[in-house]
Amino acid sequence: MFDNLSEKLDKALHVLKGHGQITEINVAETLKEVRRALLDADVNFKIAKEFTNKVKEKALGQDVLTSLQPGQLMVKLVKDELTELMGGDAEGIDLSGTPSVILMSGLQGSGKTTFSGKLANYLLAKKNKKPLLVACDVYRPAAIDQLHVVGEQIGVEVFSDRGNNDPVAISKAGIAHAKANGFNVVIIDTAGRLAVDEQMMNEIANIHKAIQPQETLFVVDSMTGQDAVNTAKAFNDVLNFDGVILTKLDGDTRGGAAISIKSVVNKPIKFIGTGEKMDAIDVFYPSRMAERILG
Ligand code: GDP
Repeated sequence: MFDNLSEKLDKALHVLKGHGQITEINVAETLKEVRRALLDADVNFKIAKEFTNKVKEKALGQDVLTSLQPGQLMVKLVKDELTELMGGDAEGIDLSGTPSVILMSGLQGSGKTTFSGKLANYLLAKKNKKPLLVACDVYRPAAIDQLHVVGEQIGVEVFSDRGNNDPVAISKAGIAHAKANGFNVVIIDTAGRLAVDEQMMNEIANIHKAIQPQETLFVVDSMTGQDAVNTAKAFNDVLNFDGVILTKLDGDTRGGAAISIKSVVNKPIKFIGTGEKMDAIDVFYPSRMAERILG
């Protein structure tokens, strides 16, 4: 994961090793390399600049730590800042509702249906919940079939209504079905388009308004880099969502989305998808990810 970024940051920070003292000059040189590594990873220019400015301020104010190796100190400062940028401590999802309703949003192909299945599987196996999946993509019959396949695979019931083309009505009926049948979590998989458009935004906004979910999650393909960040902003403007799901982190993504998205929409990344299989889901821990990136 993020091998290229890891390698570049490692190289940048190693420059300082061998210097007895952190001086303004070698800090500046190192941070230039760090910034370059972030830009190469598809982190937005402004974010990369702010990042290195913050690390610089801290580095120059750290007299107490001069006894440490300067290289190690810089690694620590970069790691702390990376953790901070990606969201500080992990936050869970709200499962307090009866049932808890979780609305999935995002573009087509982002991994919504796959992640809906993964989340249901995770809640069933790890949180002792009884989830219901609800198929609300009224445009693509194949999407409904796909959710049924996923449901069968993990042993979770899927609610759908093929003749109905009103996603608000289907989601409400799904929630009523959950209430009547003892399901305590409802995961609503919605339609997505290939790009942000008004109709899709209106549709998801209407569903959101009608069902008032405990959690609205925005699913995004991490391989799409800065586009992922722009899409997140568009969805957040309309939905004020609660958290981000970053999928396809197993691919050769450069990592820019993982690093930038929190600071742009100010919402935590809650889970990551790391493969096509139903168990390829991880809770997102910014500090662990920073640890991984910096080795
Ligand atoms: P949706 O249109 O948003 O519902 O997207 P899908 O769930 O259908 O996913 C689109 C494609 O991405 C499918 O081929 C999935 O198998 C694949 N996919 C989803 N999540 C991941 C992931 O975390 N890693 C990888 N490698 N593939 C994924």
